[in-house]
Amino acid sequence: MSRHVINLLAASAAMVMLLGGTFVGAADPAADPAAQGETPASVASGPVKVLHVQGNVYMLVGAGANIAASVGEQGVLLVDTGNEASSEAVLAAVRTLSPKLPVQYILNTTHKPDHTGGNDVIAKAGRRLVDADSTQAVILSHESILNRMSAPDGRVPPRPVPAWPTDTFFTQRKEVYFNGEPAIMSHQPGSTDGDTYVFFRRSDVIAAGDLYINTTFPEINVEAGGHINGVLKGLNDLLEVIIPRNNEEDGTLVIPGHGRVADELDVAEYRDMVTIMRDRVQDAVTRGQTLAQVKADKRIALEYDERYGGKGGPWTTEMFLEAVYKNLTAKPSPAVSKEGR
Ligand SMILES: [Zn+2]
Repeated sequence: MSRHVINLLAASAAMVMLLGGTFVGAADPAADPAAQGETPASVASGPVKVLHVQGNVYMLVGAGANIAASVGEQGVLLVDTGNEASSEAVLAAVRTLSPKLPVQYILNTTHKPDHTGGNDVIAKAGRRLVDADSTQAVILSHESILNRMSAPDGRVPPRPVPAWPTDTFFTQRKEVYFNGEPAIMSHQPGSTDGDTYVFFRRSDVIAAGDLYINTTFPEINVEAGGHINGVLKGLNDLLEVIIPRNNEEDGTLVIPGHGRVADELDVAEYRDMVTIMRDRVQDAVTRGQTLAQVKADKRIALEYDERYGGKGGPWTTEMFLEAVYKNLTAKPSPAVSKEGR
């Protein structure tokens, strides 16, 4: 087969995947809302479906936040675990991918319960094969995620101890070598102060967590250290890592925290939208508008409200505007980029 034909086949395979994906299991992709980018921020627990993304990496949808799975000769590494109610369904889906080898690692991208709700059950069903004494999978996260889950300041109730990370890091970067490739964790405070994305370097797939979602405006949790400028910095960092598709090879694919598999163009478009929204709220703040005035001003989200306004769901345009307003009027401002490009 000529190189040209191989490239054509690769390109069409990538297209099929972006248009809905090859599902493992009986599900009809056309009937699956997640495959069409319609996943609401918090999906009720239901059958969990599996989509092959690229290389070793799969995406599990239908358990709250999207879950990424690296599957290979060492077993399974998960990025996030979905909501608590879906734990058993996620485990069942993982077992169809790896019937013999266990989950060895869970990496968390944020403390939010729809991303970490399955930590407890799924970690206990796994173990580290290299460690004879291991009785569960390692749960690894940035230390600020453990701080949120253990809630030492008492402002919110802590999560149960078995859901907490068992291992933490405090550096900007942490690498886990698994299934023949590094999974590179990059801490990028964004929707919360713990946001971390994971780059599977050989498979060329990024699990973005809530730094990049394509269902709604960014789900910024101000009380948990979230900031619009952190989200923008994170999106710009993602765009530095992502290599676009060209005629020679497929490009980097991105598993968002919520929504459908994306590529460079999707992330760039979202970054531009977030930048415009930030600038419009900043303009209103500069003009002395109150929060109530900003929330009532339909011009601010005019062309984006339909697409990203959450359709009355758990994360609405008004909630997003309030978070951004609080960020931009807070003093002192956090030490994150004001540029966001
Ligand atoms: Zn999320």
